[in-house]
Amino acid sequence: MKVAVVGLGIAGLSICARLALAGHDVTGFDQFEPMHERGSSHGDTRIMRLTPGEGGTYVALARRAAGLWRTWEGLAGRPLIEWTGGLMAGPRGSPFVTASQRLSGEPAALLRGDAIHPLTRGYVAMPYEWDVFRQQDSGVIAADATRSFLLRQAVRWGAKLAHNARVADGIEGPALRINGETRSYDAVVIAAGAWARRLLPEFAGKLAVKRRVVGWFTTPTPRLLPIICVDNEDGVYGMPAPGGRYKIGLHAVGGAVSDPDIVRPPDDADAARLTAHARMLLPKHESTPEHMARCLYTVTPDENFLIVPSSVHPRVLLFSACSGHGFKYAPAFGELAEEWLNERPSAELEAFMSQRASDVNRLGGLKN
Ligand SMILES: Cc1cc2nc3c(=O)[nH]c(=O)nc-3n(C[C@H](O)[C@H](O)[C@H](O)COP(=O)(O)OP(=O)(O)OC[C@H]3O[C@@H](n4cnc5c(N)ncnc54)[C@H](O)[C@@H]3O)c2cc1C
Repeated sequence: MKVAVVGLGIAGLSICARLALAGHDVTGFDQFEPMHERGSSHGDTRIMRLTPGEGGTYVALARRAAGLWRTWEGLAGRPLIEWTGGLMAGPRGSPFVTASQRLSGEPAALLRGDAIHPLTRGYVAMPYEWDVFRQQDSGVIAADATRSFLLRQAVRWGAKLAHNARVADGIEGPALRINGETRSYDAVVIAAGAWARRLLPEFAGKLAVKRRVVGWFTTPTPRLLPIICVDNEDGVYGMPAPGGRYKIGLHAVGGAVSDPDIVRPPDDADAARLTAHARMLLPKHESTPEHMARCLYTVTPDENFLIVPSSVHPRVLLFSACSGHGFKYAPAFGELAEEWLNERPSAELEAFMSQRASDVNRLGGLKN
């Protein structure tokens, strides 16, 4: 089949690679240059969790992705995930923490927050009144290294990738307008992140774009610290980053962006907010960020993925791996797109396409 993929972030790259491997005639388009930093997929690291506390569908997808991550690592000739273990934390009774524990099937008891300080030799601290689940099957993805690998691998498998090629807004069928020229396809996948709402305006009401800022803090130890996901008001998360740093972000903090092409750079208010969390969680680290970066979330009302064919044309698929937690599932995205193309959806794809949160079995606030 002749397939176009719009958007070469982590989702579009995975889809191009998989569909090309399956023998389709695939062309991927991106409006910017390779490895650009204006969407959602850039940066050194992302959190990996094999048992995401978000619910059963995400656990099934993460476990599918795990085997494929190993295949990617073999092809890349380097590890793409470092298994550091993780601390899932939140105020006592947090549904996210209890779901993480239950879905893991681990009998390990929840810890009180103050147990974390001695466990990490004082590098991480949490309040006594928090519940903490030590989730071993968690780690850090080398995000930019993965994008860079996929840019090469998709081409090796036969995909054509066109950069600096902007697809015109308002797609009406399996055809794309690029530089005034119309190209037709058997199927089109829209993996355009924060810009998807312009390409498929029928979904605009379901996709909100949010500005997010992450900060890197200098780590005073060569020890690899665990990842952290906190189910509190700001949704703090953290992970080790290359160069002796620890990166912190806030899942729940950041305003809506009306135009993804105009996004305010990180400022003093962002630094102050990140610093407050770093002071509490990372007592031995530098408490001001060494540097910061901004990134875009594309968020659905219930924070679940939206992977659904367009009502305008059934051969156009919106693939929105959104809401700030999609990277870990990346290798499975290509498989989901292939299932749609072959009209043989797995239980996971059925759940996302139904657009019902109950089908996705979402249990708690989504984290990274
Ligand atoms: C700060 C931050 C932290 C995160 N942390 C985690 C984490 O720890 N763990 C985790 O699993 N996930 C995490 N995520 C989420 C994950 O990174 C995203 O789910 C994922 O990157 C989304 O990828 P995407 O390909 O859908 O979007 P994008 O990367 O934004 O890609 C969309 C692409 O489409 C292109 N495009 C758009 N419109 C057009 C057009 N008209 N023509 C041509 N090209 C177009 C854009 O240029 C862009 O390259 C985080 C996200 C952010 C922002």
